Amino acid sequence: MENTSFVAAELTAEILSIGDELASGQRLDTNSQWISQQLMDLGIRVCFHTTVGDVFEDNLIALRTAASRTDVVVITGGLGPTADDLTREAMAEAFDLPLELREEALLHIEALFALRKRPMPERNRVQAMFPRSSAIIPNPHGTAPGIDLQVSVHDASQRLRTSRLFALPGVPAEMREMFSSSVQPSLIRGLGAGATRWRYHSMKVFGIGESDVEKLLPDLIARDREPRVGITVSKATITLRIAARCAEEEEFQSVIASTVEQVRGALGNLVFAEGELDLHHAVHRNLEASNVRLGVVEVGASNRIGQMLSTLQRSGGYGLRTARWLASTAELRAAADGLKCSLQDTDALTGSLAALAESMVATQELDACLAVGIYPTLEEVEQAALLPHADFTMCLARKKRPTKSNTITLGGHPEVLYHRLAKTALNFLRIESLRD
Ligand code: AMP
Ligand code: MG
Repeated sequence: MENTSFVAAELTAEILSIGDELASGQRLDTNSQWISQQLMDLGIRVCFHTTVGDVFEDNLIALRTAASRTDVVVITGGLGPTADDLTREAMAEAFDLPLELREEALLHIEALFALRKRPMPERNRVQAMFPRSSAIIPNPHGTAPGIDLQVSVHDASQRLRTSRLFALPGVPAEMREMFSSSVQPSLIRGLGAGATRWRYHSMKVFGIGESDVEKLLPDLIARDREPRVGITVSKATITLRIAARCAEEEEFQSVIASTVEQVRGALGNLVFAEGELDLHHAVHRNLEASNVRLGVVEVGASNRIGQMLSTLQRSGGYGLRTARWLASTAELRAAADGLKCSLQDTDALTGSLAALAESMVATQELDACLAVGIYPTLEEVEQAALLPHADFTMCLARKKRPTKSNTITLGGHPEVLYHRLAKTALNFLRIESLRD
């Protein structure tokens, strides 16, 4: 193991989302995601996300459990004035504290109603009630102030521990504002968070399975390793995320340097990018650097490769003045339609795709043309009752260079298969255009 000295004692957190609409799936819990990111940035490790409906007893269990196992609990929802909003009563009951009226909170709520030229309904008085010893978290834009409460509770081994609870309204805009202006500064001040924070470096891998990556990096994926290396897969792209808690970016770079080198050494060309890029970005960057005019013909495979590349053209992210794409023009489509009869015969298909790609380069003022064909077609794959799989043939013709081709059989859920096909072709393009 290398350099462990940068890891100080780590605070832990739980995020508790309260609301029937969340537990039932009617509404997506976006608060937890956002709060997690904020806490991780402060160097606080989020261990649990809990969602609970508007049921008093369930709230008690959730609150006591959270306080007994983490240092910081951030609660959202249930602070409104209506009968289904139970958070303040549940906090008082869970930790055996009486609710008290806070004059300053009441004045704020009355002032808000006066501003809106409406009488304050009696129900809203409950929003000025606070568990004894808690502090008010001001809510400049709403009637629901938040609650900041420190409690002493027993953990699972009956040891007494303190936990700091912050209850915020569920409305995402109010919650975010209150978190940033009150909770975050309190955490930094009171709990010593924020001196170091989690920093990440992503390495993107394509063309190999997840378990094969793990086999090639046997010592890196271990749970207790520092820096940590996490592995995730999304739409057929594997991301290795190297994480460490450091105060400064410079320190982080030196802490992860040898891990990054180990990954590069073990995976070589399988790593196509570092950072938040995907394959089409990497290919796009290569093509643009060499100012290549590329055609793409997709037979039986929808128009996904062309689409992925042309989104970048529209976003203009890489100074597209020099990049000129030709994706699926009318002539390309017509030529591709003529090919469909030979889809089933891989050799014939390879020959036809190669001839098509070469003729495109010769007649369409292209520097390169990628022609791909798939059998069965994606429509047929989607309709098939069998496990989806397909033979995928790729040909790349380039000016004054031999045409390259490859056929591979791919499988997977139809939705993933779409991405895998497009990315396989982009990876072929990336690797073949590296070989001059
Ligand atoms: P409440 O504070 O429980 O009255 O919730 C007020 C509004 O915020 C409702 O429209 C909720 O659907 C929404 N809301 C509550 N919790 C969340 C959450 N965790 N993520 C996103 N929206 C939420
Ligand atoms: Mg609610």
